[in-house]
Amino acid sequence: MPSPASRSLKRGASTDLSVYAKLERLGLTTPDAFILHLPIRYEDETQIQSIADLRPGMSAQVEGEIVRSDVLLKPRRQLTAILRDDSAEIGLRWLTFYPSQQSQMQAGKRWRARGEVRGGLYGLELIHPRITTPGAPLSAALTPVYPTTEGLSQPSLRKAITQALSTAVLCDTLPPALVHKLDLMSFEEAIRILHAPTPDMDAHALMEHTHPAWTRIKFDELLAQQLSLAAARAARQDKQAQSFKLKTSSRNLVSKLKSALPFKLTAAQQRVSEEIATDLGRHFPMYRLLQGDVGSGKTVVAALAALQAIEYGAQVALMAPTEILAEQHFFKLRAWCEPLGIKVCWLAGSVSARSRREALQDIRTGEAKLIVGTQALIQESVDFHSLGLIIVDEQHRFGVTQRLTLSRKGEHVDLPEWVPHQLTMSATPIPRTLAMTFYADLEVSSIDELPPGRTPVVTKLIASDRRGELIQHIAQACEKGQQTYWVCPLVEESEALDLQTAVDTHRDLSEALIGLSVGLVHGRLPTAEKARVMQAFRSGEIDVLVATTVIEVGVDVPNASMMVIEHAERFGLAQLHQLRGRVGRGALQSVCVLLYQTPLSLIARQRLKAMYETQDGFVIAQRDLDLRGPGELLGARQSGMALLKFADLATDSDLVKKAREVAIDLRQHAPDVVEGHLARWMRGREDFLRS
Ligand code: ADP
Ligand code: MG
Repeated sequence: MPSPASRSLKRGASTDLSVYAKLERLGLTTPDAFILHLPIRYEDETQIQSIADLRPGMSAQVEGEIVRSDVLLKPRRQLTAILRDDSAEIGLRWLTFYPSQQSQMQAGKRWRARGEVRGGLYGLELIHPRITTPGAPLSAALTPVYPTTEGLSQPSLRKAITQALSTAVLCDTLPPALVHKLDLMSFEEAIRILHAPTPDMDAHALMEHTHPAWTRIKFDELLAQQLSLAAARAARQDKQAQSFKLKTSSRNLVSKLKSALPFKLTAAQQRVSEEIATDLGRHFPMYRLLQGDVGSGKTVVAALAALQAIEYGAQVALMAPTEILAEQHFFKLRAWCEPLGIKVCWLAGSVSARSRREALQDIRTGEAKLIVGTQALIQESVDFHSLGLIIVDEQHRFGVTQRLTLSRKGEHVDLPEWVPHQLTMSATPIPRTLAMTFYADLEVSSIDELPPGRTPVVTKLIASDRRGELIQHIAQACEKGQQTYWVCPLVEESEALDLQTAVDTHRDLSEALIGLSVGLVHGRLPTAEKARVMQAFRSGEIDVLVATTVIEVGVDVPNASMMVIEHAERFGLAQLHQLRGRVGRGALQSVCVLLYQTPLSLIARQRLKAMYETQDGFVIAQRDLDLRGPGELLGARQSGMALLKFADLATDSDLVKKAREVAIDLRQHAPDVVEGHLARWMRGREDFLRS
């Protein structure tokens, strides 16, 4: 249904018709949509500033006389002018202009000019300022600026929103008592203030989103998010799954593996294992995130979970994002499981047609119990016999759709409501606020200790002009039997260049490190070759492994005790942490050298500093959140960031907590309130949350 506002627009002149189409493009089709289309910022047109008071970055409105104007031809055609008031002068500049503008800018004319102040080569200037007649009455209040779409001007959009507001019923979705208890502003008041602030309002608080009106809107938004996540979780608990209650006899597979392991589980591994075991015994699907820093030993926990399901004859699929990682899991799991009489099978894009046929056959008949692979696992032709548990490693690297597809593979023809349990593993710890907001629909287990005997990695920051010295040092260390990763600089702009850098680095190091064996692994290498190189490194045949970031996730070579990351300033913090996690896995003192090129940008400096100061994945994740904002941190889930338009997870964590508490309470005691609130906030977004 079009809103009253858009309907009246539709009846208007033919130009209004196109306005209507553009409003629709912005999603403005219902009264609630108009109401919640809030300003991205405000412009202050309430006063005229003195030119002398202007600073770069300010949005300015000034009035004065044109001193002179010129049309420059270099470096490109442009119109420039100098405007002077009682206090100072400022430049005006247009890169495209009409002849009429040129005559407007004649010396001696007076104008009001508005725009953002920039520091130019010859002092401050306004680029493409808006020009109006001087002396016109000033706005009484801040002017809202809305997110818009091409061809829809601010005034048209403003008009449509004002119209919608004049007829809309701004009912509160929350009961008055609750609004009062939380010390929030009423919804109606908040909405009216944000669309049309009055002159007495705190402009700074409105601009900075700290005004109580914003607080109310942010709270409502976060509450809607919490409510829908909770609904998704409840929907999951309504589904059925096969129960794999942990058997207690010492002859079961889980106990057998535990006693066959060459090490004892850490207390943390033991605890998360029990959490998972309990979930697997339930009749509704587990949906659990296992997080643990790199090297904390997630694989064995996954293996124990797999065996618990296999004990009941079910199949388990383990999916990893890269072949190197998937293959490593395959080798490890096969070594652990085959002695117990379990068939482990391997499926990836690169397997030969014949092995693939065999694997598919074994998967279909149920002969293969544990199936390890890459995305290949979710292809059409893979037909599971009885998939009971899905394990996804480094889940943030997969898209939401890929995970959904695998989950559907577990649907039984005769029992369509049955779904497999799901365990996802991640070495990118999620700060608490984020976990609460984005993973409120899944359980989280954390491994918060490393296996014993690890020595902390010593991190060194070295400027790249000392590269030669470093290579000498590596030569000596390798003579003594140590192994080194040499990670190539990231060349994001071009894959070809990325590859070239790796090849060049390999050549340079081979020449410099006479008598040592230098290997090369990168993403474009054929899989068999990649596997061969990794195997050679694992067995100690290769001393120095030159690698692109393909080794970033999960590679486990305990004897490698040294890592050099070239152009470390180009990498993200999470990525550096993952890379560093490849060393420090054996008993040997490990060193990670961050080789950097000066000068460093401020953010690069902070990243390197964080790497130097801590090895704690949670601290690193928090710093990363502070530096980058939550969007990038969540990887594949980041599309979910679009869900939050107003709240900011980095600064609104108190509101997140409050919203979470209120959500729990409302779901228990006021389902009609929940429904009303979700109807206002979540229109058209339900699908995403279901995943
Ligand atoms: P990640 O959590 O990064 O996936 P892995 O599962 O690859 O870590 O484990 C890292 C290394 O630690 C492996 O070599 C693994 O066999 C070993 N490991 C795991 N648990 C223990 C433990 N309790 N004691 C000693 N070593 C362990
Ligand atoms: Mg791992």
